[in-house]
Amino acid sequence: MRLFWSKGAADYPSPAEGHGTLSGNSVFQFSGGILQYDSLLSIEKPARYMGGEIGSVAKETVDVRFVLAFPDVYEVGMSHLGLQILYAILNSVEWIGAERVYAPWPDREDAMRASGEVLATLETGTPLAGTDILGFTLQYELSCTNILNMLELSGIPLLAADRGEEYPLILGGGPCAGNPEPLADFFDIFLFGDGEDAILEIAEICRDWKKAAGSKAELLDRLSTVEGVYVPSLFSITYDQEGRISDIVSLKPGYEKVKRRIAADLEELPYPTRPVVPFLKTVHDRVSMEIARGCTRGCRFCQAGYLYRPVRERSPEKVMETIKAVLKNTGYDEISLLSLSSADYGCISDLLKNLMTTFEAERVAVSLPSLRVGSLTRDLIDEIVKVRKTGFTLAPEAGTERLRRVINKGITEEDLVVNSRNAFEAGWRVIKLYFMIGLPTETREDVLGIAEMAAQVKRAGKGTGHGGDVTVSVGSFVPKPHTPFQWEPQIGCAEITEKQRFLRGELKKRKLAFKWHDASLSFLEGVFARGDRRLARVLLEARKLGCRFDGWGEHHDFQKWQQAFETAGIDPEFYLRRREVTEVLPWARLDCGVSDDFLLEEVRKSHEEILTGDCRDGCCTECGVCDFSEIRMRLHQPVVLDPSDKSGDRQLNVVETEKPAALQETGASGEGAEVARIRLRFSKTGAMSLLSHLELLHLFTRAVRRAGIPIRYSLGFHPHPKFSFATALSVGVESWAEYFDMEISAGLDAQSVRDSLNASLPEGLRILEAAEIPLRSESLSVLIEAVRYRVFLPAGFVPHLPEKAEDFLRLETFMHRRVKKGKTFEIDLRQELSELSATDDMLEMVVKRGKPLEFASAITGIPEDELRPSRIEKREVCFREVS
Ligand code: SF4
Repeated sequence: MRLFWSKGAADYPSPAEGHGTLSGNSVFQFSGGILQYDSLLSIEKPARYMGGEIGSVAKETVDVRFVLAFPDVYEVGMSHLGLQILYAILNSVEWIGAERVYAPWPDREDAMRASGEVLATLETGTPLAGTDILGFTLQYELSCTNILNMLELSGIPLLAADRGEEYPLILGGGPCAGNPEPLADFFDIFLFGDGEDAILEIAEICRDWKKAAGSKAELLDRLSTVEGVYVPSLFSITYDQEGRISDIVSLKPGYEKVKRRIAADLEELPYPTRPVVPFLKTVHDRVSMEIARGCTRGCRFCQAGYLYRPVRERSPEKVMETIKAVLKNTGYDEISLLSLSSADYGCISDLLKNLMTTFEAERVAVSLPSLRVGSLTRDLIDEIVKVRKTGFTLAPEAGTERLRRVINKGITEEDLVVNSRNAFEAGWRVIKLYFMIGLPTETREDVLGIAEMAAQVKRAGKGTGHGGDVTVSVGSFVPKPHTPFQWEPQIGCAEITEKQRFLRGELKKRKLAFKWHDASLSFLEGVFARGDRRLARVLLEARKLGCRFDGWGEHHDFQKWQQAFETAGIDPEFYLRRREVTEVLPWARLDCGVSDDFLLEEVRKSHEEILTGDCRDGCCTECGVCDFSEIRMRLHQPVVLDPSDKSGDRQLNVVETEKPAALQETGASGEGAEVARIRLRFSKTGAMSLLSHLELLHLFTRAVRRAGIPIRYSLGFHPHPKFSFATALSVGVESWAEYFDMEISAGLDAQSVRDSLNASLPEGLRILEAAEIPLRSESLSVLIEAVRYRVFLPAGFVPHLPEKAEDFLRLETFMHRRVKKGKTFEIDLRQELSELSATDDMLEMVVKRGKPLEFASAITGIPEDELRPSRIEKREVCFREVS
């Protein structure tokens, strides 16, 4: 037996030599943060809590520590573009340290509560209570209990009135800041509108206030001068006998209304070209490129359509330049073009063509998540189909043309059928249709219309040769503030359920798949969307009952909410009722720019089924948002793309794909070259040992792309990079002997591969050796004969360990029963053990098959579960002799 092209075990660096990431047996020091190793080993997806991702920034000394908090699990929060934008802007300022925190998943929360650990930032491990600003993004009404839970876990008093200057300023922003009243008692300030400039102004005021050691009242007073900042404690609310708001009184003269902050020109705003790249797979794991903000289609139910006016597009040149930089810095292989209606972007076809031309060779896919029926031309569908064939969602919203006129969704049945047929002909097999029930003026005929329309779309797929399946997804209408439907009533749970039941039957008759939204979730969303400050009592009760992660089916418990409303003495139905146009609405002091007159005119037109046109076509409908100098629509006209002609001023610049950095160094070419196979050994230490094998694969895939290594891909519709790992290492085991092979285009020597890759890998992963091997070499997994491990036990945990090891070596056999995937089988651990030695607190062993903890348990007589927190090192792999 000999080690395959590798150093002897004695040459392997030990944790104490040069890795510096371990401190003791149970704690990892990583990127400034400290992780309790034991507690992370016992929970699902430890990578959620590790930090240290590529693109993350940890600053030790700053004037203002600004935490961006997302009140949901890491995978959801990391997919949110807004947070990445603000993170980059804040960290670009030297004296600000922007850090992140996400809601801990219940398993982690339980562990934290059991150990008394407080919630801390990912970057520097600073407890939230010790930071300066804690900014929550308010994306969804049902995140409220997660916010309170995160404050609880930080040891920060929930009520703003109970917090003095020693606590961070609690800030809220995002779409729910359009009516933040249910959270008013918990927050110090809200930011209404675009955050790019305003957060810097807020941070600056906080810095000056800290230096001056002022009072909290002084801080809030100063912050109220920032455009877009709403200080709820500067307004007092009175109620009439029916429980409606009778008045909202400003307590600060001159501070009567808060105007939404609008970033006039996106082109001028910074965009993150080095976003944080997660270790684990997130909901949207790709380059998110915001091509435009705002939509003026004017759907009367759509809050985003009113809260983000006017339409402001980024230029296609800027979009291309940004995407190129982000791809290079992240190693992503997918681009998502984001806006409320991506297909409305003026240059969309040309942009798609250009993206295809530029990045096709790098196997980068492009997706457009928001497609609007009326905006889909055949030309555009032909472009989209080249890059994306997975999901195709269209949102007619309502089942009849009458109801679509009411909601101002001006698409006809013919539009939908033609678009669907085009999509089926272009190769899509399934079309998802999104509708709402409970819309104003809805009748049974409208609900039936959903089934009939879906059946028509299904028929459109007949004869196209691609199947033609349709899935109908149905949500419930929730009236939202700042929309023409803000005064409309919302239907209750019983009515939603009855309509869903009717629809299910009708869709079943037509053999159509049905997905629906839980009625109680829509009910709660509706209560909090148009709620007022009195709902704070309900939130406190719901938290006491243990509510959190309410938007997650497995954690949502409506009974607890019903109990919370009852204890708080609040009737939730009160919030679903029709509001009189004369009524003082809870969000009356927040001015989104769209005038009440315009909204009321839209109400009238909806009742008369009159459509309002899109102002992007040149005809202003006087919603009131634009001042037509600074604040105005900013569009980019369609351009004709001809990659061979770059002379025209309006020509899209075709960005040439740069030769990968690693190839530039050697002067080699990755295109059309022959294949080489490189074998690599790497170490996986410190916090990186907590990554699963799948997470490691993702990480290497991106690192290889960032390094510009010309890796080869498998064939097929979803090509994968040609990696092959020797084995999958168990989570928590540190290793200096991990191996993988990769196929690359020849021209790059093994040492260049090693160096380029090392420059792209995070701390804790290091390529130790690389060598070119013959293409037809045997795979690593069949060459492995045995593995050398060290198991470190807490000092004194096992008395007489060396003697126990000797006793074990004297055995002939030791049969161990293992249960795997429900099947039990036996393994002779003694026969699988080649070498064994021991000190008072460490076992070193060479094993052929079996897990180190199984052996440690057999030798010590201690159950595996009790040994699980032991640190394990994989020191060496012994390979079979090859000729
Ligand atoms: S003011 Fe006119 S142009 Fe501006 S968003 Fe409103 S309708 Fe459109």
